[in-house]
Amino acid sequence: MKNRVAVLALAALLLTSLAVFAQQNFTVGTATAAPGQKANGFLEIPAGSDAATSIPVVVLNGAKPGPTLALVSGSHGTEYASVIALEKLIPVLDPAQLSGKVILIPLVNIPSFEQKVPHLNPVDGKSMNRMYPGKADGTQTERVSFAITKQVVERSDYLIDYHGGDLDENLVPYTYWPKSGNAQQDAITHDMAVAFGLNIIIITADRPKDPNASRYLDNTANTRGKPAIAAEAGYAGTVQTDDVQALVNGTLSVMRYLKMLPGAATLADHPTWIGKIDTVASEQTGIFYPLVTRGAYVEQGARLGYVTDYFGKTIFEARAPASGVVLYICSVPSMKKGDTVGYVGEVTTNP
Ligand SMILES: [Zn+2]
Repeated sequence: MKNRVAVLALAALLLTSLAVFAQQNFTVGTATAAPGQKANGFLEIPAGSDAATSIPVVVLNGAKPGPTLALVSGSHGTEYASVIALEKLIPVLDPAQLSGKVILIPLVNIPSFEQKVPHLNPVDGKSMNRMYPGKADGTQTERVSFAITKQVVERSDYLIDYHGGDLDENLVPYTYWPKSGNAQQDAITHDMAVAFGLNIIIITADRPKDPNASRYLDNTANTRGKPAIAAEAGYAGTVQTDDVQALVNGTLSVMRYLKMLPGAATLADHPTWIGKIDTVASEQTGIFYPLVTRGAYVEQGARLGYVTDYFGKTIFEARAPASGVVLYICSVPSMKKGDTVGYVGEVTTNP
């Protein structure tokens, strides 16, 4: 009899805690979502040594319990397909179907987007995916990075960072699998990368291990014990339906893998695994002419493109340092000495 009372008491306690869960609002920045609801707001970054900025954030508070997933795009504001993919996800994600919570940030680098400036935040000239975990009293990029670390990464269990080929990059879609050295976490990020569904997966094992010098957003999450991947699609300022849809579908598939949405994840079918990226840089300033396109397979020594002077004389030939996949090739004629001509990814075996 006593046991029965205890069981009933326990059941009552569980119901109470479920009820408490069910009543909790979820707030990020100025966005507060009631259970089963979606809400819009901003991460307000106050002015410091330079201007203030407001970063749009959408929060989804699922009807059922589950983990918190952060989706962040537009650190590079002219990698348009990745920004548009998260815009497409806003109406697609339904909090009534959701187990857990989503923090969705479609556009981190608003000055880059509005002014059409690739790679950097034009306010302070810094990359918005190299300054993590950021600084509360730094320049705008550092203050934004700090706010995202505190208000998004530290409040999440998982994270996906979205990129693509920038205005000057002809890039093939791929996912990064960042290996942290923690076997349990690496197994999860491996599965997230495969569940994302893109057919090229790049293994990176050289990211900083120090959470206070994490540099990249995905690495900021991974060094804090929160499994994270980065996915890239889109190129050279284009917003192709296939690229946008690949990022939308990849996200939904990872959410199914994480049991945040009903249904089974769609896994990449025999993806090509890249073990090493060879960066090819130009040794001359001039006009660049590509000879290969994104996704091409090249042999070691193959010509990737050439650079002429402004009179048309060839002054540099870019060649593949190893056999592999052209992950991206410069898509514009402007070429400065030391700038990247492209990436060749060396294929490795399925890990
Ligand atoms: Zn990027």
